Amino acid sequence: MSPKGASNANDVRRRLPSVDQVVGSPAGQAMVREHGREPVVEGVREELGALRARLRGTGQAASGKVLEPSSILAGALQRLQARQAPKLCRVINATGVILHTGLGRAVLPRTALDTIASEQAGYSLLEVDRDTGARTIRETHVVELLKRLTGAEAATVVNNNAGATMIALATLAQSREVIVSRGQLVEIGGSFRIPEVMEMSGARLVEVGTTNKTYIQDYERAIKPETALLLRVHTSNFRVIGFTASASLEELVALGRKHGLPVMDDLGSGVLVDLAPFGILDEPGVVDSVKAGADVVTFSGDKLLGGPQAGLLVGTSRWIGAIRKNPLFRALRVDKLKLTALEATLKLYLDRDRLARELPTLAMIAMSPEEIERRALDLAARLKSVPALSVEILDDASEVGGGSVPAHMIPTKVVAVRHARRSLESLAAALRAHTPCIFARVQRERVLFDVRTLLEGEGAEIAAALVRITA
Ligand SMILES: *Cc1c(COP(=O)(O)O)cnc(C)c1O
Repeated sequence: MSPKGASNANDVRRRLPSVDQVVGSPAGQAMVREHGREPVVEGVREELGALRARLRGTGQAASGKVLEPSSILAGALQRLQARQAPKLCRVINATGVILHTGLGRAVLPRTALDTIASEQAGYSLLEVDRDTGARTIRETHVVELLKRLTGAEAATVVNNNAGATMIALATLAQSREVIVSRGQLVEIGGSFRIPEVMEMSGARLVEVGTTNKTYIQDYERAIKPETALLLRVHTSNFRVIGFTASASLEELVALGRKHGLPVMDDLGSGVLVDLAPFGILDEPGVVDSVKAGADVVTFSGDKLLGGPQAGLLVGTSRWIGAIRKNPLFRALRVDKLKLTALEATLKLYLDRDRLARELPTLAMIAMSPEEIERRALDLAARLKSVPALSVEILDDASEVGGGSVPAHMIPTKVVAVRHARRSLESLAAALRAHTPCIFARVQRERVLFDVRTLLEGEGAEIAAALVRITA
């Protein structure tokens, strides 16, 4: 004899309505009209399956209520909504890390998003010249802007800077030797290692100097008939301090000219405007590398430039032209959405006043202490209305991030909270699980919200989320 509970559950399972019954009910039909037949059928099927499994698992009799179509439809709706919610969703970044690789690096300027919506809703002039009607190269519009902004003779663009570095090495030094300082054999987050990229590109690495000191004579001694290229890599994410020496780009270019060798400069981030007024002194400018005579300069679109992910290459017509002819170029080519966003972002650079206002990356770096203070007071006031939350404003530091400007901290203010009944970790986890996701820092025994990286209206959203989470 089976125990009473189990036989009861069997009964209940038998009494579960069919998918057709639930979907065919008036409420089911209303849901079909709103969400479409297929998603509703799928949701109901899943919900019934889960209910059946639950009844089998517990051996418990369910109340008649769970068997009603309305209750099953409610469960189905939740499944349907969870499936339709974008997984790659918006995040409120209160970490204070401006170029947070995990959160998508640079926030795109509004004009880039608007231009995508207005110019890419239909066909676009991607590879056709409107005057002649003939085919052109797809990055023409961006090339002119890059040449103008960097002073370079030629320019092109690929999918990201790792790709830019790879194709440049593969073009300039395939099966030959590249001389690079031991102090510049960097790994950039996500396992981008210069020695490995070099190997993949088919170039052979010749290391010179030591970790902390490399002189121009070290490069010169390593030059052989097999040498194809002198490479400088910006040590984006670390800094060697103390007893150090490195060859300048000018010295490398002079050495290259003497031996008939091209020089490549991988800037990583690279900047198109002087960030010294904002306290950022050691991020190399693309213009400086071009002026110094580098044959190829590579940099990212979504680091300090503040645009979409892209690998930008500027330099001499001879070498940029050769890179464009490499079959790898097709494999690394940029799509029309990215090109549109890049063009709109670069256009901001033609007007410095507009740039400071409209490029989020720059606006965040350049935010005045008064503005930071104002935003902190505003957020603190909002959070003080959340029950059981203790709120204070503390001095702290924001970071540029994205492997740019190593060790550079920008003074900021954070709104620091603690909850009377919730642990810091559970609060931070609930904020991440919230829609929209909220990323804060858990430090100094508090949850910290750095106001520097918040966008318009996000303070109110954080307050609303905390009310909901801690209710
Ligand atoms: C970030 C970086 C790269 C890789 O650029 P992505 O745009 O992330 O592909 C390459 N080299 C240096 C020096 C960098 O800092």
